[in-house]
Amino acid sequence: MSNRTFTMIKPDAVKAGNIGNILQMINAGGFRIAAMKYTKISRQQAEKFYEVHAARPFYSELTEFMSSGPIVAAILEKENAVADFRKLIGATNPANAEEGTIRKRYAASIGENAVHGSDSDENAKIEGDFFFNGLEQF
Ligand code: ATP
Ligand code: MG
Repeated sequence: MSNRTFTMIKPDAVKAGNIGNILQMINAGGFRIAAMKYTKISRQQAEKFYEVHAARPFYSELTEFMSSGPIVAAILEKENAVADFRKLIGATNPANAEEGTIRKRYAASIGENAVHGSDSDENAKIEGDFFFNGLEQF
């Protein structure tokens, strides 16, 4: 099992001024930052990143939102990183997210839900490599 996951602080959380608060929760959760950048993705890049969701009804809304403003992308390291990070971020829909999770605190809706977290070791690697080359991963 790999010990890394990939995350983005999404445009809604960046706009709301919550980068610092979310990084604080990531730190407190015991994750080490292996790579990080503040960047903005194009509509095309968002479509590529979320290709697995291309058939879903929310694909257009999702890719428009994710390319609407800057994000923070990061690779995080911890034992059991993928599962533990998804626990820390909470359910996709913040209405169903547990107390103390990032989405419970900072997400407004199922679409604009503050953070991304990889759903498998395989996707964590693919997503991390989408944003960071080898020289940018420590
Ligand atoms: P993420 O992949 O961003 O960590 P997730 O794994 O919890 O989120 P997915 O099912 O992978 O959820 O959906 C990807 C993203 O698509 C969600 O985080 C959300 O921004 C958006 N999304 C999912 N379901 C809906 C929906 N029903 N309506 C609008 N947007 C949605
Ligand atoms: Mg997902």
